[in-house]
Amino acid sequence: MNILVINAGSSSVKYQLYDMKTEFVLAKGRVERIGMDSSILTHEVDHQPEVREVSEILDHTTAIKKVLDMLTHRKFGVLRNIADIQAVGHRVVHGGETFSRSVLVDAQVKLEIRKLFDLAPLHNPAHMMGIAAVEANLPEVPQAVVFDTAFHQSMPASSFLYAIPTVLYRKHQIRRYGFHGTSHDYVSKKSAEFLGRPIETLKLITCHIGNGASCAAILHGKSFDTSMGMTPLEGLMMGTRSGDLDPAIVPFTINKEDLTLNEVNSMLNKHSGLLAISGVSSDMREVVDAMNEGNANAKLAFEMYAYRIRKYIGAYAAAMDGVDAIVFTAGVGENSAALRTEVCKSLSFLGVHLDETRNAGRSPEPRRITTEQSRVDVLVVPTNEELLIARDTYELVKGLEANTR
Ligand code: AMP
Repeated sequence: MNILVINAGSSSVKYQLYDMKTEFVLAKGRVERIGMDSSILTHEVDHQPEVREVSEILDHTTAIKKVLDMLTHRKFGVLRNIADIQAVGHRVVHGGETFSRSVLVDAQVKLEIRKLFDLAPLHNPAHMMGIAAVEANLPEVPQAVVFDTAFHQSMPASSFLYAIPTVLYRKHQIRRYGFHGTSHDYVSKKSAEFLGRPIETLKLITCHIGNGASCAAILHGKSFDTSMGMTPLEGLMMGTRSGDLDPAIVPFTINKEDLTLNEVNSMLNKHSGLLAISGVSSDMREVVDAMNEGNANAKLAFEMYAYRIRKYIGAYAAAMDGVDAIVFTAGVGENSAALRTEVCKSLSFLGVHLDETRNAGRSPEPRRITTEQSRVDVLVVPTNEELLIARDTYELVKGLEANTR
């Protein structure tokens, strides 16, 4: 079965086509600048030069049509016919309290996703455009949706509630949802597999440290707590997001700087984090380079960034009454040995002892970076959200076929 995984943004569509027999990525790519002049389609097939096509792509339906044309292209394609795509899986950021697992798309599911537009105004409408665009191009093909929030629906009320009047939760569902669920789910299962232990026996802390960043406490295979909240702004310091801060700073800044609420919101989401403290970049590579050249602000940004991860690890070890393994994943977590060293440097009280040679190594496979004596394992596990979306879609579509037999 071939499954097309789609991640639709407001002006972009990313795609990966999987052969589920081998879980091999047949092709992947992205359409950018949808609705603007000079839209770009970039298409990659293993061992072949990347193809780039510039044209005018006014909407998501045309973008998906272009992707399908490319996948079946005589020279650059990997399929003979679009009928060779048996299912489509979409990433959807917000599933609210409605979705605690992946589901097949039907009229009711679309209605529920629309109801959640308020909670994810930048993301969910774009995902719906992606779903409609696939429907227009492949009307007979089943579609599934995989939510970033679903994995965290197992959090207990003591983790997900804010200590504010509960009427706000009842009326407007103001609560913590958490994000990066697909990644935390994927790497926690991979870690259990790597450790050779049933996930139901493990206490894991997964650290998804990329441009966006979050930690999760995963108790016996279920999310018990996570650092992002009602929106992805809460928790760790990120590339451009502030993470945790005193909410009183918002009205204070509005008064002192004569800013609007939207301007402060944009400051906290787009102009804070590593970028604000380093004054250099939101990209960890550039911050580390500047730090190594002696830039004191870059050093402070790097240390703050790591310190906050360390604090969450300490908190989650306490929340679960222990931890068996700490897992690093995503762009920074997988690639920056310096960041992992900085985070783990005062976790010896937990029994964490990094092996710096292992830490400095690289591998596309999960690996342990602690010494044999370390009481807690620290792992680096490359994440693969697209593969999990493809797997969930595959399971749902197999169920559909079994039911119609
Ligand atoms: P992601 O959001 O998971 O794609 O991660 C993107 C981030 O990973 C980028 O903003 C970079 O800061 C970071 N990154 C990628 N490679 C490295 C590296 N070798 N060292 C430090 N950070 C890296």
